[in-house]
Amino acid sequence: MKIISTGRTLVSGSRDEQFQIGAPNISPPQFVTLQGGANNFINNCNGHNALIKVGDGDNVIINSDSAVNATVICSTGDDSIVNSTGAKNSSIVTGNGSDTVDIWSADATIKFGNGSNLVRICADTKLSLDVSTSDSYELKYFNGAKADVTRINGGTYTLRGSADENIFDYAGGNMIIESYGGEDLIRIRQPFGTAKVSGDDVIIPVDGSIVVKNARAHTLNINGHKTIVGSYASGSTPQQVIKKFMAALDRTKLRGISAVDEAVRKSSKFSEADEVIACMINDCKRLRNADKFLRDCCNIILDNADTGAITGWDAGNSIVKTNESIVDERGALKIFRGQSFIVNGLKVNVPSNPRGVQQNIINGLYTWWVKNALDLIEESYGVAYRFDAPGASVREINVEFINDDTSALATVNHRYNTSNGRANALTLRINMKYYNELNSHDVNGSTAYNRGNIRASFLDRTLAHEFTHAVMAANIDFFSDLPAWLKEGTAELTHGISDERRNDLETLAGDPNKLYNALKSHTADAAQIHVKNVLAPVYAAGFMLLHYFAKKVANMR
Ligand SMILES: [Zn+2]
Repeated sequence: MKIISTGRTLVSGSRDEQFQIGAPNISPPQFVTLQGGANNFINNCNGHNALIKVGDGDNVIINSDSAVNATVICSTGDDSIVNSTGAKNSSIVTGNGSDTVDIWSADATIKFGNGSNLVRICADTKLSLDVSTSDSYELKYFNGAKADVTRINGGTYTLRGSADENIFDYAGGNMIIESYGGEDLIRIRQPFGTAKVSGDDVIIPVDGSIVVKNARAHTLNINGHKTIVGSYASGSTPQQVIKKFMAALDRTKLRGISAVDEAVRKSSKFSEADEVIACMINDCKRLRNADKFLRDCCNIILDNADTGAITGWDAGNSIVKTNESIVDERGALKIFRGQSFIVNGLKVNVPSNPRGVQQNIINGLYTWWVKNALDLIEESYGVAYRFDAPGASVREINVEFINDDTSALATVNHRYNTSNGRANALTLRINMKYYNELNSHDVNGSTAYNRGNIRASFLDRTLAHEFTHAVMAANIDFFSDLPAWLKEGTAELTHGISDERRNDLETLAGDPNKLYNALKSHTADAAQIHVKNVLAPVYAAGFMLLHYFAKKVANMR
């Protein structure tokens, strides 16, 4: 590495060299001009008014914490420029190629070259963007950072939100917003026209245009005013489609896939479940892009905070349901020392003499988790899915703590009468392998369990999944004959899995054959269905299929 410590120095680099302008313990070099070659690593540590010009190739240039008034000029090649926390008043020219600029500093001016340009906004900042010669650029937000963006010249640009709150500043030209979430704000500092729907997108007319992808029938926050633009062509939201489907499933006298087919016919224009699956596989093949397929066809958006629960934002509702809020605990924890308690018409029997963490879990079940799970299931699937519904065949559940070396966080088993298919006993088993390390101060029931990259979900979400099985078993005759993708898909739809099963969703969405293999059997158990590189094929594919069905039907006339 060469350290440049004096001003007015001209260094001609060739290739693959490392330079550092200044050092933390020396007075800042002034007006250094560094003429670098290709593939250089350059750290502008504390230069003042440095001019850094690099040649072709992939260069890494860092303006460190005490760099002031730096000018960075890149050429052809995929360059990476980092503007660190304290860097002040930097000016960056990206040159041609796929360039990335990371912004941790309070301000910067960026002039884009041809090719694709990505700006990662990692801290609150003020950016001035010159896009006159740019093919395309994209701003991506991290760490909840906000950017005050001024644009100097034309072009179309994409803003992609993060899981946190984002402010999308319109700065002229044609702006596309991907991953809009319910907590985001669109700020337009000029007159704009009435928003219109185009496909699933909402278009706001300004000097150019603002396109908000996948925002039809969603609540948009424009300059602090909330508006809903357009509705679904069918008049029903995806959530309402699922409710209709589940109501029909509750009423049918048929069993297995025939019961599902009837529910499909009663709630849509599809003739059977296999037709829905074929249609989905077709769309998956047609798009050949996992993220686009999930977003456009399934309303599954991976990079916002919504978990993809059927009651949440991504399914067309006005509330973002997050990892923490999907099961929404309120009020202080109460201690329970008895044998059984009754919640929403369900008698819950708990073990006597619980030890340590088990007592904490019983307290959580008693205070929030059973009621919250049952309320969420009813909100998701309608009034038929309650333990005090007239058709419920069992209104009691035994809770057991087990220590099982399997991948199941918890299970619900139901015993049923084989002649009429009606459940008559329910057991919930909580696997302490995963929940022995429960954080007793967290209302969500998080656990420290983390072995070999396996992390356990919040217990409140695991319970929402399991109670979905319990409620459905109590209300649907021959529940056990339903396809595994439906049993697990509905249980996942209750709390959403866009965050927890992201890899599985992406793998299946990117490979129509895998997706088909996860769904083709209507009789096999979930444990019998294996798809390469997919951890829980039936769970993820069932979740996708139900979302696909809900959105497709909502959009039909
Ligand atoms: Zn399950």
